[in-house]
Amino acid sequence: MRYISTRGGMAPAPFSDILLGGLAPDGGLALPDAYPTLAPGELSGWRGLSYPELAFAILRRFADDLPADELRALIDHTYTAEIFRSEAITPLTPLADGVWLLGLSNGPTLAFKDIAMQLLGNLFEYVLLKTGGHLNIFGATSGDTGSSAEYAMRGKRNIRVFMLSPHQKMSRFQTAQMFSLQDPNIFNIAVRGVFDDCQDMVKAVSHDADFKARYAIGTVNSINWARVAAQIVYYFKGWLAVTDRDVQEVSFAVPSGNFGNICAGYIAKRMGLPIRRLILATNENNVLDEFFRTGVYRVRPTDQVAQTSSPSMDISKASNFERFIFDAVGRDPAVVRDLWRQVDTQGFFDLSGSDAFHAIQESGFVSGTSTHQDRMDTIRRVYQDSGSGIVMDTHTADGVKVGLEYREDGVPLICLETALPAKFEESIVEALGHPPERPAGYENIEALPQRFEVMDADVAEIKGYIVRYAG
Ligand SMILES: *Cc1c(COP(=O)(O)O)cnc(C)c1O
Repeated sequence: MRYISTRGGMAPAPFSDILLGGLAPDGGLALPDAYPTLAPGELSGWRGLSYPELAFAILRRFADDLPADELRALIDHTYTAEIFRSEAITPLTPLADGVWLLGLSNGPTLAFKDIAMQLLGNLFEYVLLKTGGHLNIFGATSGDTGSSAEYAMRGKRNIRVFMLSPHQKMSRFQTAQMFSLQDPNIFNIAVRGVFDDCQDMVKAVSHDADFKARYAIGTVNSINWARVAAQIVYYFKGWLAVTDRDVQEVSFAVPSGNFGNICAGYIAKRMGLPIRRLILATNENNVLDEFFRTGVYRVRPTDQVAQTSSPSMDISKASNFERFIFDAVGRDPAVVRDLWRQVDTQGFFDLSGSDAFHAIQESGFVSGTSTHQDRMDTIRRVYQDSGSGIVMDTHTADGVKVGLEYREDGVPLICLETALPAKFEESIVEALGHPPERPAGYENIEALPQRFEVMDADVAEIKGYIVRYAG
């Protein structure tokens, strides 16, 4: 398999060449030159597989330049009961008749990003050891991504992580989760400012090509292809768990922000997994719901992004969306370049009435928006209906709310659970009147000693810091 760029300007490259990268050199995103497809009978052969076996069966197609036994070992080392707290890795819980919750958030940071990020940590270390290189990951976080990256990269050889976060603006739980890491390759920097100040510092450094090259600066943001690839696996896992015939269609409800999670579901479907509907749920920041309803993709200025109680879905633009649009416009990079030029100049593009949009609407994508009140109502209703057994987090609740609107008789519906409620205690208290249970080991996380540096939002200062500590 070779990878190409959605903007058409990258020579076809194998998986290990694009693994460490963010954007392709031409500003596009990497995608396989053709999706692998299932052979007849292949799905039924996968029914008895464990999570790591299934992950290997799927990921070997996308990483076919890595020696199979080494890929296998990396996967086995990643998807363990110690790290994900059960052999199932992604356990399934019945929610109602024909409706399930697929638990994706049992990794170390209690959010679904761990599933891909934990593998990424092992893949990065493996490739760097082979090439003799090193990497300084530099990023900004308002919560989930940064902690997931740190827990994936902690203790990894030849990798350091420099993570900016807004000083005293994350939840106490999230702060404790990140700052309690004592690994010498993890550098937490609390910036006096807001998240946008952190992001601006990262942008300023990434525009300095000399500095980036000299200090081997890299990122782990959601456009990394390997993250999307690793997420394909659990769509198969969920499908296999609720079906007994190979043609049976299943729908998935996906709480969405940057379109990474649901992009993986779309690719699973392109590989031949019988998915009926991909139900995209947004919160009040409904850029993507607007697109799937109208054909208009309108990004929001950052000052118009609402701060909601499902904060990991508070996005101004959906950074993985370009992959999907590339396919929708017949993989014509000239069209993609033109559409994103329109986004840059006028803030939107409009595909309504086009053949591409018609095909998208036929392809099983549907969408909806969920508000704060919807989240509260859904958390409360599921809690009551389950006899106090199920407490969902706010992001998962967005997905369940929209998913149930599209539920069809006779079609199993799998709602993806993207975080545990313990991460968003305040909202659970608001919905249920009491805090959620914390998983074992997280009870007193706020009391652990913390290790971090406080800094002004000053690009020269952060560069100096990186120079001092870079590997
Ligand atoms: C990142 C995140 C999302 C959004 O996923 P995308 O891949 O960006 O669409 C949803 N819920 C939680 C809890 C997240 O951390």
